[in-house]
Amino acid sequence: MPLAELSRIRQLLVCPRCRSGLTEETEGLRCTALDCAYARAGAFPWSGAWPVLVDFERSIMDREVVVAEGAGRADGLPAPVRRLVKPPNRVAARNIDLLLRALPGPAPRLLVVGGATVGNGVSAVYREPRVEVIAFDIVGSPHTQFVADAHQIPLPSACVDAVLVQAVLEHVLEPPTVVTEIHRVLKDGGLVYAETPFLQQVHAGAHDFSRYTASGHRYLFRRFEELAAGAVAGPGTQLLWSVDHLVRGLTRSATAGRGARLLLSWLRALDRLVPPAYAEDDATAVFFLGRKNEAGMPPMSPGEIVRYYRGAQ
Ligand SMILES: [Zn+2]
Repeated sequence: MPLAELSRIRQLLVCPRCRSGLTEETEGLRCTALDCAYARAGAFPWSGAWPVLVDFERSIMDREVVVAEGAGRADGLPAPVRRLVKPPNRVAARNIDLLLRALPGPAPRLLVVGGATVGNGVSAVYREPRVEVIAFDIVGSPHTQFVADAHQIPLPSACVDAVLVQAVLEHVLEPPTVVTEIHRVLKDGGLVYAETPFLQQVHAGAHDFSRYTASGHRYLFRRFEELAAGAVAGPGTQLLWSVDHLVRGLTRSATAGRGARLLLSWLRALDRLVPPAYAEDDATAVFFLGRKNEAGMPPMSPGEIVRYYRGAQ
């Protein structure tokens, strides 16, 4: 089943502003709540085959740009080239395996936040026959059913069993708001897998806003129980990326930077010699696999997060 048809999940979709149901007309969808600003005809337009469920007044997304995107986004570089520049993310693959094994029930529903491209190391999610995948991004793609802004997820509360949010939280203006939304759409005991950059150069230009240490990331998910957390890659990879960007800066050429990265790709292997505590202090990105706390359970306190630190200092 993996990626569900839009028609299959259509009844789940709600207004991003007020979370009332939606009704469909030729110009697009609209909210069914009469007092909602999005109740007017065509309030939520189509972008190609994808309904755009965005509260544009409260989003950095631009209505005209999103509607014009329509055709969707390709996966970028051909797979063999991508593997050379970006080797498979084995940490993600291992954690996704843990997540899939921990998912309850015969047909669990998994939401991918920022799913326009299939993330590195997470493809098993799309191959697991019992899982129903729902995915959205800020552009349409063959891997998503609708366009939305993660600050206002157009889904009802407690409707999914798991959320995957990989390399996305750095691109949102308010990560705590997005994590609150992820917490809201998850059922009690639902699972989340997040990967977020720590020591990483700016990417995606104007759409890159934040970085997290392992502790900062843990506190972001303080209303979740931790199942696993740590570094995605350590100082070797971090140094390799820094050399790439140093060369870019010296030569004013991204191609020269990528060339240096290919030449020095052996630096990555040094990560295997670095203990986890040191890797966490110098990680390219950190991951968190967690379970939503049962209702009534208190979140992690400020005191607990200070005791949580597991680095080498
Ligand atoms: Zn509404």
